[in-house]
Amino acid sequence: MREILHIQGGQCGNQIGAKFWEVVCAEHGIDATGRYGGDSDLQLERVNVYYNEASCGRFVPRAVLMDLEPGTMDSVRSGPYGHIFRPDNFVFGQSGAGNNWAKGHYTEGAELIDSVLDVVRKEAENCDCLQGFQVCHSLGGGTGSGMGTLLISKIREEYPDRMMLTFSVFPSPKVSDTVVEPYNATLSVHQLVENADECMVLDNEALYDICFRTLKLTTPSFGDLNHLISATMSGVTCCLRFPGQLNSDLRKLAVNLIPFPRLHFFMMWDAKNMMCAADPRHGRYLTASAMFRGKMSTKEVDEQMLNVQNKNSSYFVEWIPNNVKSTVCDIPPTGLKMASTFIGNSTSIQEMFRRVSEQFTAMFRRKAFLHWYTGEGMDEMEFTEAESNMNDLVSEYQQYQDATADEEGEYEDEEEGDLQD
Ligand code: GDP
Repeated sequence: MREILHIQGGQCGNQIGAKFWEVVCAEHGIDATGRYGGDSDLQLERVNVYYNEASCGRFVPRAVLMDLEPGTMDSVRSGPYGHIFRPDNFVFGQSGAGNNWAKGHYTEGAELIDSVLDVVRKEAENCDCLQGFQVCHSLGGGTGSGMGTLLISKIREEYPDRMMLTFSVFPSPKVSDTVVEPYNATLSVHQLVENADECMVLDNEALYDICFRTLKLTTPSFGDLNHLISATMSGVTCCLRFPGQLNSDLRKLAVNLIPFPRLHFFMMWDAKNMMCAADPRHGRYLTASAMFRGKMSTKEVDEQMLNVQNKNSSYFVEWIPNNVKSTVCDIPPTGLKMASTFIGNSTSIQEMFRRVSEQFTAMFRRKAFLHWYTGEGMDEMEFTEAESNMNDLVSEYQQYQDATADEEGEYEDEEEGDLQD
Protein backbone atom coordinates (compact mmCIF):
# COMPACT_ATOMS: atom_id res chain seq x y z
CA MET A 1 0.00 0.00 0.00
CA ARG A 2 1.37 3.42 -0.91
CA GLU A 3 0.30 5.77 1.84
CA ILE A 4 0.05 9.55 1.77
CA LEU A 5 0.51 11.60 4.94
CA HIS A 6 -1.63 14.73 5.04
CA ILE A 7 -0.58 17.83 6.98
CA GLN A 8 -2.60 21.01 7.46
CA GLY A 9 -1.23 24.18 9.03
CA GLY A 10 -2.47 27.63 9.99
CA GLN A 11 -5.97 29.05 9.78
CA CYS A 12 -6.52 28.60 6.07
CA GLY A 13 -4.73 25.23 5.93
CA ASN A 14 -6.85 23.86 8.75
CA GLN A 15 -10.05 25.21 7.26
CA ILE A 16 -9.49 23.80 3.79
CA GLY A 17 -8.02 20.60 5.23
CA ALA A 18 -11.10 20.01 7.39
CA LYS A 19 -13.33 20.47 4.32
CA PHE A 20 -11.13 18.10 2.31
CA TRP A 21 -11.65 15.36 4.88
CA GLU A 22 -15.40 15.92 4.98
CA VAL A 23 -15.62 15.48 1.22
CA VAL A 24 -13.26 12.52 1.09
CA CYS A 25 -15.04 10.75 3.96
CA ALA A 26 -18.36 11.15 2.16
CA GLU A 27 -16.90 9.77 -1.08
CA HIS A 28 -15.47 6.74 0.67
CA GLY A 29 -18.60 6.07 2.72
CA ILE A 30 -16.96 6.86 6.05
CA ASP A 31 -19.05 8.60 8.69
CA ALA A 32 -17.97 11.12 11.31
CA THR A 33 -17.06 8.37 13.75
CA GLY A 34 -14.80 6.67 11.21
CA ARG A 35 -17.14 3.77 10.47
CA TYR A 36 -17.67 2.51 6.96
CA GLY A 37 -21.26 2.54 5.75
CA GLY A 38 -20.77 2.77 1.99
CA ASP A 39 -22.14 0.73 -0.86
CA SER A 40 -19.24 -0.08 -3.19
CA ASP A 41 -16.05 -2.09 -2.81
CA LEU A 42 -14.30 0.59 -4.84
CA GLN A 43 -14.64 2.91 -1.85
CA LEU A 44 -12.44 0.66 0.25
CA GLU A 45 -10.04 -0.71 -2.32
CA ARG A 46 -7.49 2.08 -1.84
CA VAL A 47 -8.80 3.64 1.34
CA ASN A 48 -5.43 3.02 3.03
CA VAL A 49 -3.80 5.68 0.88
CA TYR A 50 -5.34 8.32 3.15
CA TYR A 51 -6.62 6.41 6.20
CA ASN A 52 -5.18 4.19 8.89
CA GLU A 53 -7.40 1.35 9.95
CA ALA A 54 -7.66 1.17 13.73
CA SER A 55 -8.02 -2.18 15.45
CA CYS A 56 -11.70 -1.50 16.15
CA GLY A 57 -12.30 -1.29 12.41
CA ARG A 58 -12.59 2.48 12.30
CA PHE A 59 -10.86 4.55 9.68
CA VAL A 60 -8.67 7.34 10.98
CA PRO A 61 -7.34 10.05 8.65
CA ARG A 62 -3.57 9.94 8.34
CA ALA A 63 -3.53 13.64 9.13
CA VAL A 64 -1.42 15.97 11.24
CA LEU A 65 -2.93 19.32 12.23
CA MET A 66 -0.72 22.18 13.34
CA ASP A 67 -1.13 25.82 14.26
CA LEU A 68 0.54 28.50 16.35
CA GLU A 69 -2.73 29.36 18.04
CA PRO A 70 -5.49 27.06 19.25
CA GLY A 71 -8.58 28.78 17.77
CA THR A 72 -8.93 27.24 14.32
CA MET A 73 -8.04 23.76 15.49
CA ASP A 74 -10.59 24.06 18.28
CA SER A 75 -13.24 24.73 15.69
CA VAL A 76 -12.04 21.80 13.55
CA ARG A 77 -12.28 19.60 16.62
CA SER A 78 -15.80 20.75 17.36
CA GLY A 79 -16.81 20.64 13.68
CA PRO A 80 -18.77 17.87 11.94
CA TYR A 81 -15.84 15.45 11.50
CA GLY A 82 -13.77 16.74 14.42
CA HIS A 83 -13.70 13.45 16.26
CA ILE A 84 -12.45 11.41 13.35
CA PHE A 85 -8.89 12.74 13.75
CA ARG A 86 -6.37 11.19 16.07
CA PRO A 87 -6.35 13.51 19.13
CA ASP A 88 -2.56 13.26 19.51
CA ASN A 89 -2.12 14.60 16.00
CA PHE A 90 -3.30 18.11 16.95
CA VAL A 91 -0.13 20.11 17.60
CA PHE A 92 -0.54 23.75 18.52
CA GLY A 93 1.04 26.69 20.28
CA GLN A 94 -0.43 29.76 21.92
CA SER A 95 1.68 32.60 20.56
CA GLY A 96 0.22 33.12 17.06
CA ALA A 97 2.27 34.18 14.07
CA GLY A 98 0.67 37.60 13.54
CA ASN A 99 0.70 37.15 9.75
CA ASN A 100 4.47 37.27 9.93
CA TRP A 101 6.34 34.68 7.85
CA ALA A 102 9.46 35.17 9.98
CA LYS A 103 7.60 34.17 13.15
CA GLY A 104 6.35 31.01 11.49
CA HIS A 105 9.65 30.09 9.87
CA TYR A 106 12.32 31.26 12.30
CA THR A 107 10.99 31.99 15.76
CA GLU A 108 7.62 30.78 17.10
CA GLY A 109 7.24 28.10 14.45
CA ALA A 110 10.79 26.87 14.86
CA GLU A 111 10.04 26.27 18.54
CA LEU A 112 7.04 24.09 17.79
CA ILE A 113 8.41 22.29 14.76
CA ASP A 114 10.00 19.38 16.65
CA SER A 115 6.68 18.41 18.23
CA VAL A 116 5.13 18.38 14.77
CA LEU A 117 8.00 16.30 13.38
CA ASP A 118 7.55 13.78 16.20
CA VAL A 119 3.96 13.17 15.13
CA VAL A 120 4.92 13.07 11.45
CA ARG A 121 7.63 10.49 12.19
CA LYS A 122 5.23 8.37 14.17
CA GLU A 123 2.73 8.31 11.32
CA ALA A 124 5.46 7.65 8.75
CA GLU A 125 6.78 4.71 10.78
CA ASN A 126 3.32 3.16 10.77
CA CYS A 127 3.21 3.15 6.99
CA ASP A 128 3.90 0.13 4.88
CA CYS A 129 5.44 2.15 2.05
CA LEU A 130 4.88 5.87 2.33
CA GLN A 131 4.68 7.51 -1.11
CA GLY A 132 4.78 11.05 0.16
CA PHE A 133 3.19 14.01 1.88
CA GLN A 134 0.55 16.56 1.08
CA VAL A 135 0.47 19.92 2.82
CA CYS A 136 -2.49 22.33 2.93
CA HIS A 137 -1.66 25.92 3.74
CA SER A 138 -2.02 29.54 2.72
CA LEU A 139 1.02 31.50 1.60
CA GLY A 140 -0.17 34.91 2.75
CA GLY A 141 -0.16 34.46 6.52
CA GLY A 142 2.49 33.47 9.04
CA THR A 143 1.89 29.91 10.18
CA GLY A 144 0.80 27.95 7.10
CA SER A 145 3.21 30.00 5.08
CA GLY A 146 6.33 30.35 7.28
CA MET A 147 6.00 27.30 9.47
CA GLY A 148 4.47 25.28 6.63
CA THR A 149 7.53 25.84 4.45
CA LEU A 150 9.82 25.17 7.43
CA LEU A 151 8.12 21.82 7.90
CA ILE A 152 8.39 21.07 4.17
CA SER A 153 12.13 21.69 4.27
CA LYS A 154 12.58 19.54 7.40
CA ILE A 155 10.59 16.72 5.81
CA ARG A 156 12.64 16.96 2.64
CA GLU A 157 15.79 16.62 4.75
CA GLU A 158 14.48 13.55 6.56
CA TYR A 159 12.61 11.90 3.68
CA PRO A 160 14.51 13.08 0.60
CA ASP A 161 13.10 10.39 -1.68
CA ARG A 162 9.42 10.84 -0.81
CA MET A 163 7.12 13.10 -2.84
CA MET A 164 5.94 16.45 -1.53
CA LEU A 165 2.65 17.80 -2.86
CA THR A 166 1.20 21.09 -1.66
CA PHE A 167 -2.19 22.75 -1.90
CA SER A 168 -1.09 26.35 -1.63
CA VAL A 169 -3.53 29.25 -1.33
CA PHE A 170 -2.11 32.42 -2.89
CA PRO A 171 -3.18 35.76 -1.43
CA SER A 172 -5.25 38.39 -3.17
CA PRO A 173 -6.01 41.95 -2.07
CA LYS A 174 -9.66 41.13 -2.87
CA VAL A 175 -9.77 38.77 0.12
CA SER A 176 -6.87 39.98 2.12
CA ASP A 177 -6.19 40.19 5.81
CA THR A 178 -3.02 42.28 5.71
CA VAL A 179 -0.77 44.31 3.43
CA VAL A 180 2.33 42.17 4.01
CA GLU A 181 0.84 39.12 2.30
CA PRO A 182 2.94 39.56 -0.87
CA TYR A 183 6.06 39.37 1.34
CA ASN A 184 4.91 36.16 3.00
CA ALA A 185 3.87 34.64 -0.33
CA THR A 186 7.14 35.47 -2.10
CA LEU A 187 9.25 34.11 0.76
CA SER A 188 7.14 30.94 0.55
CA VAL A 189 7.43 30.55 -3.22
CA HIS A 190 11.19 30.80 -2.81
CA GLN A 191 10.95 27.71 -0.57
CA LEU A 192 8.39 25.83 -2.65
CA VAL A 193 10.44 26.11 -5.83
CA GLU A 194 13.26 24.22 -4.14
CA ASN A 195 11.57 21.91 -1.63
CA ALA A 196 8.22 20.85 -3.07
CA ASP A 197 7.73 18.45 -5.95
CA GLU A 198 4.27 19.58 -7.04
CA CYS A 199 2.19 22.58 -6.00
CA MET A 200 -1.51 22.87 -6.70
CA VAL A 201 -2.08 26.60 -6.92
CA LEU A 202 -5.32 27.84 -5.40
CA ASP A 203 -5.51 31.54 -5.93
CA ASN A 204 -7.90 33.52 -3.74
CA GLU A 205 -8.14 36.16 -6.47
CA ALA A 206 -9.56 33.63 -8.93
CA LEU A 207 -11.72 31.92 -6.32
CA TYR A 208 -13.20 35.26 -5.37
CA ASP A 209 -13.94 36.03 -9.03
CA ILE A 210 -15.68 32.68 -9.50
CA CYS A 211 -17.87 33.33 -6.47
CA PHE A 212 -18.62 36.89 -7.49
CA ARG A 213 -19.00 36.62 -11.27
CA THR A 214 -20.14 33.06 -11.89
CA LEU A 215 -21.93 32.17 -8.69
CA LYS A 216 -23.26 35.75 -8.24
CA LEU A 217 -22.40 35.90 -4.56
CA THR A 218 -22.12 39.57 -3.66
CA THR A 219 -19.95 39.09 -0.60
CA PRO A 220 -18.16 35.75 -0.90
CA SER A 221 -17.04 34.24 2.42
CA PHE A 222 -14.08 31.95 3.10
CA GLY A 223 -16.68 29.20 3.35
CA ASP A 224 -17.69 29.86 -0.28
CA LEU A 225 -14.08 29.91 -1.44
CA ASN A 226 -13.32 26.76 0.49
CA HIS A 227 -16.24 24.96 -1.09
CA LEU A 228 -14.55 25.43 -4.47
CA ILE A 229 -11.22 24.37 -3.01
CA SER A 230 -12.51 21.15 -1.47
CA ALA A 231 -14.23 20.17 -4.72
CA THR A 232 -10.96 20.75 -6.56
CA MET A 233 -8.91 18.84 -4.01
CA SER A 234 -11.31 15.95 -4.28
CA GLY A 235 -10.96 15.95 -8.07
CA VAL A 236 -7.19 16.19 -8.01
CA THR A 237 -6.79 13.36 -5.51
CA CYS A 238 -9.43 11.06 -6.96
CA CYS A 239 -6.89 9.08 -9.05
CA LEU A 240 -4.85 8.55 -5.92
CA ARG A 241 -7.82 7.34 -3.88
CA PHE A 242 -9.69 5.09 -6.29
CA PRO A 243 -8.42 2.22 -8.44
CA GLY A 244 -7.12 3.16 -11.89
CA GLN A 245 -4.04 3.21 -14.06
CA LEU A 246 -3.03 6.74 -14.92
CA ASN A 247 -1.70 9.21 -12.34
CA SER A 248 -2.33 6.62 -9.68
CA ASP A 249 0.36 7.90 -7.35
CA LEU A 250 2.11 11.18 -6.62
CA ARG A 251 5.22 10.25 -8.58
CA LYS A 252 3.31 9.23 -11.70
CA LEU A 253 1.36 12.46 -11.54
CA ALA A 254 4.65 14.37 -11.35
CA VAL A 255 6.27 12.43 -14.19
CA ASN A 256 3.53 13.41 -16.60
CA LEU A 257 3.16 17.00 -15.52
CA ILE A 258 6.68 18.28 -14.85
CA PRO A 259 8.99 18.70 -17.84
CA PHE A 260 11.42 20.94 -15.87
CA PRO A 261 11.84 20.53 -12.12
CA ARG A 262 11.29 24.15 -11.08
CA LEU A 263 8.14 24.49 -13.15
CA HIS A 264 5.87 22.49 -10.87
CA PHE A 265 3.09 25.00 -10.13
CA PHE A 266 -0.19 23.80 -11.52
CA MET A 267 -3.39 25.62 -12.22
CA MET A 268 -6.69 23.86 -12.12
CA TRP A 269 -10.05 24.38 -13.60
CA ASP A 270 -13.46 23.12 -13.32
CA ALA A 271 -15.70 23.80 -16.32
CA LYS A 272 -15.14 27.47 -17.24
CA ASN A 273 -13.51 28.49 -14.03
CA MET A 274 -9.81 28.77 -13.44
CA MET A 275 -8.67 28.38 -9.86
CA CYS A 276 -5.78 30.69 -10.61
CA ALA A 277 -6.00 34.24 -11.91
CA ALA A 278 -4.13 33.67 -15.13
CA ASP A 279 -5.58 33.28 -18.59
CA PRO A 280 -4.31 30.11 -20.29
CA ARG A 281 -4.91 31.82 -23.64
CA HIS A 282 -2.07 34.18 -22.76
CA GLY A 283 0.36 31.29 -22.54
CA ARG A 284 0.82 27.71 -23.61
CA TYR A 285 0.33 24.42 -21.85
CA LEU A 286 3.55 22.50 -21.31
CA THR A 287 1.50 19.57 -20.02
CA ALA A 288 -1.97 18.91 -18.69
CA SER A 289 -4.03 16.21 -17.15
CA ALA A 290 -7.82 15.86 -17.18
CA MET A 291 -9.67 13.75 -14.67
CA PHE A 292 -13.20 12.67 -15.50
CA ARG A 293 -15.47 11.09 -12.96
CA GLY A 294 -18.66 9.12 -13.37
CA LYS A 295 -19.97 6.51 -15.79
CA MET A 296 -18.74 7.37 -19.26
CA SER A 297 -16.89 5.78 -22.11
CA THR A 298 -13.11 6.08 -22.06
CA LYS A 299 -13.10 6.04 -25.83
CA GLU A 300 -15.44 8.99 -26.02
CA VAL A 301 -13.38 10.92 -23.48
CA ASP A 302 -10.20 10.29 -25.47
CA GLU A 303 -11.85 11.41 -28.70
CA GLN A 304 -13.22 14.57 -27.15
CA MET A 305 -9.89 15.42 -25.57
CA LEU A 306 -8.06 14.97 -28.88
CA ASN A 307 -10.65 17.14 -30.51
CA VAL A 308 -10.08 19.93 -28.01
CA GLN A 309 -6.32 19.72 -28.48
CA ASN A 310 -6.53 19.71 -32.27
CA LYS A 311 -8.79 22.75 -32.27
CA ASN A 312 -6.55 24.59 -29.84
CA SER A 313 -3.16 23.26 -30.87
CA SER A 314 -1.48 26.66 -30.64
CA TYR A 315 -2.11 26.63 -26.88
CA PHE A 316 -0.09 23.45 -26.36
CA VAL A 317 3.68 23.43 -26.87
CA GLU A 318 4.36 21.28 -29.91
CA TRP A 319 7.72 20.09 -28.59
CA ILE A 320 6.07 17.83 -26.02
CA PRO A 321 3.94 15.47 -28.08
CA ASN A 322 0.96 13.88 -26.32
CA ASN A 323 1.22 16.33 -23.45
CA VAL A 324 -2.38 15.95 -22.34
CA LYS A 325 -3.42 12.87 -20.42
CA SER A 326 -6.92 11.96 -19.36
CA THR A 327 -8.29 9.50 -16.88
CA VAL A 328 -11.71 8.22 -16.02
CA CYS A 329 -12.67 7.24 -12.49
CA ASP A 330 -15.99 5.40 -12.07
CA ILE A 331 -16.99 7.07 -8.84
CA PRO A 332 -18.45 10.57 -9.24
CA PRO A 333 -18.30 13.14 -6.44
CA THR A 334 -21.10 12.83 -3.90
CA GLY A 335 -24.37 14.19 -5.25
CA LEU A 336 -23.26 14.43 -8.89
CA LYS A 337 -23.49 12.12 -11.90
CA MET A 338 -20.32 13.33 -13.54
CA ALA A 339 -17.53 15.79 -12.96
CA SER A 340 -14.14 16.66 -14.28
CA THR A 341 -11.05 18.40 -12.98
CA PHE A 342 -8.30 19.70 -15.15
CA ILE A 343 -4.71 20.25 -13.98
CA GLY A 344 -2.55 22.32 -16.26
CA ASN A 345 1.11 23.21 -16.26
CA SER A 346 0.64 26.44 -18.20
CA THR A 347 3.22 29.13 -18.84
CA SER A 348 0.43 31.66 -18.24
CA ILE A 349 0.76 31.06 -14.51
CA GLN A 350 3.52 33.66 -14.71
CA GLU A 351 0.70 36.24 -14.64
CA MET A 352 -0.08 35.30 -11.07
CA PHE A 353 3.57 35.31 -10.01
CA ARG A 354 3.95 38.70 -11.70
CA ARG A 355 1.00 40.08 -9.75
CA VAL A 356 2.51 38.99 -6.42
CA SER A 357 5.96 40.13 -7.47
CA GLU A 358 4.75 43.64 -8.36
CA GLN A 359 3.05 43.97 -4.99
CA PHE A 360 6.21 42.69 -3.29
CA THR A 361 8.51 45.06 -5.12
CA ALA A 362 6.34 48.13 -4.54
CA MET A 363 6.82 47.72 -0.79
CA PHE A 364 10.33 46.28 -0.77
CA ARG A 365 11.71 49.17 -2.81
CA ARG A 366 10.93 51.41 0.16
CA LYS A 367 11.71 48.69 2.70
CA ALA A 368 8.19 49.11 4.05
CA PHE A 369 7.26 46.80 6.94
CA LEU A 370 10.68 45.12 6.87
CA HIS A 371 11.25 45.78 10.56
CA TRP A 372 8.65 43.16 11.45
CA TYR A 373 10.85 40.58 9.76
CA THR A 374 14.30 41.83 10.71
CA GLY A 375 12.94 42.07 14.26
CA GLU A 376 12.61 38.28 14.19
CA GLY A 377 16.22 37.98 13.07
CA MET A 378 15.72 37.84 9.32
CA ASP A 379 18.25 39.30 6.93
CA GLU A 380 17.17 41.61 4.14
CA MET A 381 19.20 39.42 1.81
CA GLU A 382 16.59 36.68 2.03
CA PHE A 383 14.03 39.11 0.64
CA THR A 384 16.31 40.00 -2.26
CA GLU A 385 16.94 36.33 -3.01
CA ALA A 386 13.25 35.42 -2.81
CA GLU A 387 12.40 38.30 -5.12
CA SER A 388 14.93 37.22 -7.73
CA ASN A 389 14.02 33.55 -7.49
CA MET A 390 10.41 34.40 -8.27
CA ASN A 391 11.43 36.73 -11.10
CA ASP A 392 13.62 33.95 -12.51
CA LEU A 393 10.64 31.62 -12.39
CA VAL A 394 8.62 34.13 -14.41
CA SER A 395 11.41 34.36 -17.04
CA GLU A 396 11.67 30.60 -17.25
CA TYR A 397 7.96 30.33 -18.00
CA GLN A 398 8.33 33.04 -20.64
CA GLN A 399 11.30 31.24 -22.25
CA TYR A 400 9.38 28.02 -22.66
CA GLN A 401 6.32 29.88 -23.84
CA ASP A 402 8.38 31.32 -26.69
CA ALA A 403 10.34 28.16 -27.43
CA THR A 404 9.55 26.41 -30.68
CA ALA A 405 10.19 22.86 -31.85
CA ASP A 406 12.88 23.52 -34.43
CA GLU A 407 15.38 25.21 -32.17
CA GLU A 408 17.91 23.47 -30.06
CA GLY A 409 18.55 25.05 -26.72
CA GLU A 410 17.84 28.53 -28.03
CA TYR A 411 14.64 30.42 -27.77
CA GLU A 412 13.12 32.34 -30.56
CA ASP A 413 12.51 35.98 -29.99
CA GLU A 414 9.97 37.21 -32.46
CA GLU A 415 11.45 40.66 -32.93
CA GLU A 416 15.06 39.58 -33.21
CA GLY A 417 14.39 36.36 -35.03
CA ASP A 418 13.92 38.07 -38.34
CA LEU A 419 16.93 37.28 -40.53
CA GLN A 420 15.76 38.82 -43.77
CA ASP A 421 18.84 40.83 -44.54
P1 GDP B 1 -1.89 31.61 9.33
O1 GDP B 1 -2.92 31.06 10.29
O2 GDP B 1 -0.84 32.40 10.02
O3 GDP B 1 -1.33 30.55 8.45
O4 GDP B 1 -2.63 32.65 8.40
P2 GDP B 1 -3.87 32.50 7.44
O5 GDP B 1 -4.04 31.09 7.01
O6 GDP B 1 -5.03 33.20 8.05
O7 GDP B 1 -3.31 33.31 6.21
C1 GDP B 1 -3.84 34.49 5.70
C2 GDP B 1 -4.08 34.29 4.23
O8 GDP B 1 -4.90 33.15 4.05
C3 GDP B 1 -4.82 35.42 3.60
O9 GDP B 1 -4.37 35.54 2.25
C4 GDP B 1 -6.27 35.00 3.67
O10 GDP B 1 -7.01 35.62 2.66
C5 GDP B 1 -6.15 33.51 3.46
N1 GDP B 1 -7.15 32.70 4.17
C6 GDP B 1 -7.35 32.60 5.51
N2 GDP B 1 -8.32 31.70 5.79
C7 GDP B 1 -8.76 31.23 4.58
C8 GDP B 1 -9.73 30.27 4.20
O11 GDP B 1 -10.42 29.66 5.00
N3 GDP B 1 -9.87 30.05 2.86
C9 GDP B 1 -9.15 30.69 1.91
N4 GDP B 1 -9.36 30.40 0.62
N5 GDP B 1 -8.20 31.59 2.24
C10 GDP B 1 -8.01 31.86 3.56
